Amino acid sequence: MDVKELYQIGDFWQDRLRIRDWDVKYEWTHLHELGDKHGTIKWNKVFKSAVVSVSIPNELEGYNGVVPNTEVIVVHELLHILFNYTPLYTEDSLNYNAEEHALYTVANTLVSMRYKYGKI
Ligand SMILES: [Zn+2]
Repeated sequence: MDVKELYQIGDFWQDRLRIRDWDVKYEWTHLHELGDKHGTIKWNKVFKSAVVSVSIPNELEGYNGVVPNTEVIVVHELLHILFNYTPLYTEDSLNYNAEEHALYTVANTLVSMRYKYGKI
């Protein structure tokens, strides 16, 4: 998979999520470099810049038998940008896992809608 494909996915979703003003870079990363995650995002709120790292697809392992697709991972990471502005956001809290799950559910739903309805 070409990194261009990541940028195409990211550009599409930055438009839909209205975070076009963020300068987001995308990169493929080996799963072992991501710990137990499928993707990560590092951002700088002041400069509105971020780097989204996504696991190389053939290295992905299923979670509860479900292997997340690349687009869902990208959307999930971009949703972190939106949610980091909410008062609920804190990476240290016990809510972190709940938030992670919620963001994956929303990301999955958005990506499903894109392919079911063609346009969102
Ligand atoms: Zn996350």
